[in-house]
Amino acid sequence: MRKRPFFAHQHPLEASAARQNARKGRGDGKLHQQNEQVLWNHCDNYNESARPRMSSSQQSSPEQVRKVAEADFPSRFGHFRIYGFTNGEEEAVVVKMGDLKGEPPLLRIHSQCLTGDVFHSLRCDCRAQLELALESIAREGRGLVIYENQEGRGIGLLNKLRAYELQDQGADTVEANEQLGFEADLRGYALPAAILHYFGLKAVRLMSNNPEKIEALERAGVQVAERVPCIVAPVESTEDYLRTKREKLGHLLDPM
Ligand SMILES: [Zn+2]
Repeated sequence: MRKRPFFAHQHPLEASAARQNARKGRGDGKLHQQNEQVLWNHCDNYNESARPRMSSSQQSSPEQVRKVAEADFPSRFGHFRIYGFTNGEEEAVVVKMGDLKGEPPLLRIHSQCLTGDVFHSLRCDCRAQLELALESIAREGRGLVIYENQEGRGIGLLNKLRAYELQDQGADTVEANEQLGFEADLRGYALPAAILHYFGLKAVRLMSNNPEKIEALERAGVQVAERVPCIVAPVESTEDYLRTKREKLGHLLDPM
């Protein structure tokens, strides 16, 4: 089986969209390949597992998504409800505030990043974006974060640390791919879309800087009524990463 470079930090929805574009010949396939390699060198999260993925025809339908738990969830951002969902393959946690009926609510789809979310890593901006999303939702009094529990699956987390090590040693892209490459994990938008369906949401205001993410969520049947920028001020250690996102992946970030 051919090994592919993986997106080292990019959120899986973005990665999936970029690959879909490359496969469809939309835009420049070579450029996307290059992007994957650039990200591989610059980024820190690991979003693909070695597990075989479902084809699009097998993606989870709303019926296959099951809520396994719901509880009260006070946090320092405000008072939420917390939910656990699974489709048998993947799991996600949702924190939700307020009544979601009526105008499209704020939504952030966040991929687990242990080093950022828990240890406050400054190799990426994951935690800062998550906090911004929770603060924004609390300010509006309604909205939700879908937190995809995918880093710990398969060999994700430790390979992320191995990637850090290789980056610190100055490994080039090809070497890193050879050493840590995995089969592609074509994470789709099926689970988040099914969760939104569970909450009766047909339209959302998506907190994201990635135009491709919007397109991909809409392909999964959810209307993005508005893109709400999720901009956090770069610190020195995330500058390269954010610049790469902006220049190579078309993320809507301020020049730095
Ligand atoms: Zn991160």
